[in-house]
Amino acid sequence: YFLDRVDFLDARVNAFVHVGRESALALSDQVDQALSSGQVASPLAGVPVALKDVLCTDSMPTTCGSRMLEKFQPPYTATSVANLLQAGLIPLGKTNMDEFAMGGSTETSFSGATRNPWSLERTPGGSSGGASACLAAGMAPLSIGSDTGGSVRQPAAFCGVCGLKPTYGRISRYGLVAFASSLDQVGPLAHTVEDLAASLQLLAGHDSRDSTSLNEAVPDYSAELERPLAGLRVGVIREHLEHPSLDAEVRQAVLRGQQMLKDLGATILDVTLPHTEYSVPTYYLVAPSEASGNLSRYDGVHYGFREKAENAEGSQLEAMIARSRSQGFGAEVKRRIMLGTFALSAGYYDAYYKKALQVRRLIADDYRQAFGSVDVLLGPVTPRPAFGLGENMSDPVQMYLEDLFTVGANLAGIPAISLPAGFSEGGLPLAIQLHAPALGEARLLNVAY
Ligand code: GLN
Repeated sequence: YFLDRVDFLDARVNAFVHVGRESALALSDQVDQALSSGQVASPLAGVPVALKDVLCTDSMPTTCGSRMLEKFQPPYTATSVANLLQAGLIPLGKTNMDEFAMGGSTETSFSGATRNPWSLERTPGGSSGGASACLAAGMAPLSIGSDTGGSVRQPAAFCGVCGLKPTYGRISRYGLVAFASSLDQVGPLAHTVEDLAASLQLLAGHDSRDSTSLNEAVPDYSAELERPLAGLRVGVIREHLEHPSLDAEVRQAVLRGQQMLKDLGATILDVTLPHTEYSVPTYYLVAPSEASGNLSRYDGVHYGFREKAENAEGSQLEAMIARSRSQGFGAEVKRRIMLGTFALSAGYYDAYYKKALQVRRLIADDYRQAFGSVDVLLGPVTPRPAFGLGENMSDPVQMYLEDLFTVGANLAGIPAISLPAGFSEGGLPLAIQLHAPALGEARLLNVAY
């Protein structure tokens, strides 16, 4: 059913960069047999899943939306994906994304932009835009993305689906192609909170192959969903709700969410995150700095794309590396590498990178302070609903400002969830966001449900 929908719809949406029809059908038969002989017990056995093309898979290419990895076939599979395979889920293919997950619109992909199924002239969000669009178009029931500064939550918001960024370290990053290692986290997208809970159950857990993976027990997320909300303390983030860039309809959606929680017995409190205005500048120093280091491995020697040094003057090796990187990477990736290299360079390190780390601590402390008096935080996911294709492409700073409400959770390492919250007058999905303290996924999912 899902493969047929992909065949029928994806020429228009462009959510997939690779469809594994044969392997999905073969695996489906195997899972059927295993199920009938009682060998697989997982509640999600047999469920198809779409994987963002930043997750390494040994049976499918992994391009990260980049020419640099155009023909790359990893020799191993990400732990998060291996956990799903183990539980009998069936990968349908790999979904489109901004190049190396850098972007918020899936327009920087070497495979071309993905379109928003609710309005084909608009972006599905990004960087996990293929992951959200394939759900909105009914081409998959579940997808896995990654979130470094909002890349699961913002596309989920733009496409009217649910998206979860777990606590940093909750899901293994082994086999997740690195963008900014201290911020990156794998996260599921689905139509319902129940589906997020069931998939997080499989994805979460310690992995000795990721040194930042948390060695903490994984609670039963589905068991907590129906817990009553009486006594719950919800903090509404003042700086987010009152931000001048917040669209009136998105604001109304947050207020409806607030009322709904109140009706369910929660106490609503006004909460302040005083360093909110520094979150985008801080993120756009930390993330590119880490990216400039992580992407140094793409040199034309170890991985992927290589351009010959024919007719080059001077060192042939240097010319090969320079040409491979010049032609293998797109404009946004180069911009990030240059920003990060600048921020880390001698003479600027203290003024930019070190300062950003200090402010990052203040931002994390704001959340810690807030969670001293509330259980969850409520606010918007994005300043406005899905924007038009091409609208922000000539203005990177405008594109970065769209991340205002999502980057804080990554800087602080805490879990956050994006939930559908009705539609705008123009028929575009609206969304609200909830945050919880580190490892508070069970409570977060409970409130979201
Ligand atoms: N839009 C943000 C960026 O461009 C977040 C991307 C992400 O979470 N991968 O960096």
